[in-house]
Amino acid sequence: MRIYTHAACSAHDTGPGHAERPERLAAVAQALRDAFPAIEWHEAPRATREQLLRAHAPALLRSVLETKPSQRVMLDPDTVLSPASAEAGLRAAGAAVAAVDGVLGGETKRAFCAVRPPGHHATRDTAMGFCLFNSVALAALHALEAHGLERVAIADFDVHHGNGTQAIFESDPRVLFLSSHQVPLYPGSGLAQDTGAGNIVNAPLAPGSGGAEFRASWHDVLLPALDRFRPQLLLVSAGFDAHARDPLAQLELDAGDYAWLTRELVATADRHARGRVVSSLEGGYDLQALRECSVAHVAALMADEAQATVG
Ligand SMILES: [Zn+2]
Repeated sequence: MRIYTHAACSAHDTGPGHAERPERLAAVAQALRDAFPAIEWHEAPRATREQLLRAHAPALLRSVLETKPSQRVMLDPDTVLSPASAEAGLRAAGAAVAAVDGVLGGETKRAFCAVRPPGHHATRDTAMGFCLFNSVALAALHALEAHGLERVAIADFDVHHGNGTQAIFESDPRVLFLSSHQVPLYPGSGLAQDTGAGNIVNAPLAPGSGGAEFRASWHDVLLPALDRFRPQLLLVSAGFDAHARDPLAQLELDAGDYAWLTRELVATADRHARGRVVSSLEGGYDLQALRECSVAHVAALMADEAQATVG
């Protein structure tokens, strides 16, 4: 098990009162250090221009990397570019790419990227919804194009639909995109009838849904699709904003639900992908929920890895 992070991710300054704030990452990092003192931490490199261009248009790279604001500018009503944001975006994306290298290189079976900004709303040409670059999409394309894999799956349990990830892969059957999310909620996409090239599976959940509905949608719909796809690598968009304490959504999950799903995802990766899982932090806006859920998620990623090493 490895954790990838970078100090630059904390310097991305979204301004007073913004939900996607540096304290989120501090809470996650401290909780993981307290819970798992022996875990290996790695400094994330910057994603390269070549890696970014696999998922993103040159115009998006220009707007994020070349704007060089002297103060905060708004890319949309939610998405801020501060003087330090380009570096944070490069390190968040670079973490996911480096984690893929670590996992596919056999250095570790599992990796978690403790990073911000999040990524799953960023489309090919638009930074939106707190996201600059789509880290999991870049990780998937790196696995396919630099490592020669043929099937990569992305499991997205953030409470918001990963519209950017869906848009990037909806006509690319090398990637299976699975998402549970609240509907209606930002960004308004993610209906069950959106199936892309047969490689998109959306499981919308009504406001007020709790662990039973969440687990049922994964057990009945999303996990069977993942099994049928037989991914060679599993990526996870790990947002913890479906937790009951979260201020931005109305689902009612607890840390045990995230532990359950993570164990199920690991079991599927063990069957098809030699256990290889790379998870990257997306949303989650209550600090206590972030602490509990990130520890539950990483514990479940590690538990099976330890058993596999012993067994
Ligand atoms: Zn979210």
